[in-house]
Amino acid sequence: MARSELSAPVIHRTKEPIDVLVIGAGMGGAVASMVLAQAGLKVVCLEQGGWTAPEDRPHFSADWEWQRLNNWSTAVNVRKRSDDYPVDTLDESTLMWSGVGGSTVVYTGTWPRFRPSDFRKGAEHGCQPDWPFTYEDLESWYEANDRNCGVSGILGDPAIPPRGPFQTKPLPLGSARAAIRGFEKLGWHWWPMPNAIISEDYDGRPACNHCGGCQSGCARGSLNDVAVTHWPKAIAAGAELRTHARVARIETGPDGRATGAVYRNRTTGEWEFQAARHVVLAANGVGTPRLLLASESSAHPNGLANSSGLVGKNLMHHGLAVLEAWVDEPLETHKGFLSAQLICEEFAETDISRGFINGFTLHIVRMNGAGYQAHGSHSGNVGPWGSGHHAWFRQHFDRGFAILCMGDDLPLEENRVTLSETVVDSDGLPAPRIDYHLHPNDERMMDFAVDRAVELAGAAGAFEIKVNRWSPPGRGYVPPAWHLMGTCRLGTLPDNSVVDEWGRSWDVPNLTLIDASVLPTGGAVNPTSTIGALSLRNATHLRDQLSRRDS
Ligand SMILES: Cc1cc2nc3c(=O)[nH]c(=O)nc-3n(C[C@H](O)[C@H](O)[C@H](O)COP(=O)(O)OP(=O)(O)OC[C@H]3O[C@@H](n4cnc5c(N)ncnc54)[C@H](O)[C@@H]3O)c2cc1C
Repeated sequence: MARSELSAPVIHRTKEPIDVLVIGAGMGGAVASMVLAQAGLKVVCLEQGGWTAPEDRPHFSADWEWQRLNNWSTAVNVRKRSDDYPVDTLDESTLMWSGVGGSTVVYTGTWPRFRPSDFRKGAEHGCQPDWPFTYEDLESWYEANDRNCGVSGILGDPAIPPRGPFQTKPLPLGSARAAIRGFEKLGWHWWPMPNAIISEDYDGRPACNHCGGCQSGCARGSLNDVAVTHWPKAIAAGAELRTHARVARIETGPDGRATGAVYRNRTTGEWEFQAARHVVLAANGVGTPRLLLASESSAHPNGLANSSGLVGKNLMHHGLAVLEAWVDEPLETHKGFLSAQLICEEFAETDISRGFINGFTLHIVRMNGAGYQAHGSHSGNVGPWGSGHHAWFRQHFDRGFAILCMGDDLPLEENRVTLSETVVDSDGLPAPRIDYHLHPNDERMMDFAVDRAVELAGAAGAFEIKVNRWSPPGRGYVPPAWHLMGTCRLGTLPDNSVVDEWGRSWDVPNLTLIDASVLPTGGAVNPTSTIGALSLRNATHLRDQLSRRDS
């Protein structure tokens, strides 16, 4: 369907505008809906997918590992659900979830924080922008967001600034002992990874039972899936959540202000318009630029909120490589939570003597279950089938651990989200197209990181290692794209950013972006504790502004 044809369907229009329309019910949208509804504002959230009940997950089926490779794959182009939109890309495997909770429905809750230097890369080397505020400015929001999510860990990590208390004690380290041996031998930093998985009952939720099914989410509610931690509170405060409601475009009036959004009611098949005084866009680093670009009009020929021309550009995923190592001792590596057990920040800061700027972290991750290990677990190291399988399995099963190398990737304008000319979603709307590659600086960083992981595996006493660079030889590193950041970056001026430091569009005064798309840098760690903290800060600011206007 051509974009202009979208005006053809009959659209049922609401007359009375609500206070705030939130688009997307994931991490950012859940935080925003909760904060705004708790202030008494009339909030409606439109989410293209539905709820996930505990029994919908594969945890309770004998073929749970098979399902994780198919209908529960975290890659949208593999599982092909109508709730998702497909992604037109040759460069990567885009990972996300569409439904209440967004990608937190299937993430693993690894919860490190950015480093203070991640906020001032402009001053450090100029290849990334400075944030308009500092780590210290965000610190209290990290703490408040952690309290909402429930985080386990242990205080005293010497590699990062002191932080407030964890909500629960650390999860058991178990199979990480082989890696700890390696770290100690090399004298490198290591610390138990903070995780948004509670090890004790907290806030009405039960402690993790170590079932190990985290890669298709948590059926108990021990992991911070915002469908469990935030949405019940948002709804109790009066937020209305409309599921299976896919937004096609945001409309604006003659004064340039957003008036609301056109969406497909995927239950009735009808097109509807929800009017609103303020619009919050929270559709993630791919869905948000997709919608802004799809909201083009004669007044906004390059897409909405795009006077800078930066909407969709500077996509960051993190450089990623995984090494699997096997030692000659049982580690119980198939038991327990799947998120990282340890983090090493030894190489997180720039040291130009290494031949690149920025840094990376190493994460120690346990292996998956038996079927998954035979199928190649993290490195694609598929065990031999037929004769030799049992001998291989006895030697490897329960004896492996993975070292995940996560590198800060430079924001590049050619790494971008645009609208596909050829692929549409189940409602006929143009799918996002993604082009992505790593900068040579980041390729050098990942080569260095893999060398360090090999060194660590050797120090841990590994008898065998396998490296997964995720891509065919000669194509460098092509990460499975589970971190979707930077495509509508926040900044200091309308020509260097899409939104200001509060997520407000420079162009459309009543449009605020609250999700991962606004991050100007991605750090060298998983981003969601930072996305959550920033969302809470900016949603609170919006709440105060809107409440003040009403009083
Ligand atoms: C497999 C996997 C593992 C991960 N593991 C970790 C981890 O361990 N630690 C970590 O920090 N991060 C992890 N992440 C990333 C984390 O999930 C994201 O950073 C976070 O969820 C981003 O929040 P968001 O609000 O930007 O978007 P999301 O949480 O993705 O929410 C966006 C929502 O918008 C909805 N939407 C999009 N377009 C439309 C539309 N047109 N109309 C209506 N609704 C729409 C989507 O359906 C979705 O529900 C992982 C992600 C994946 C996929």
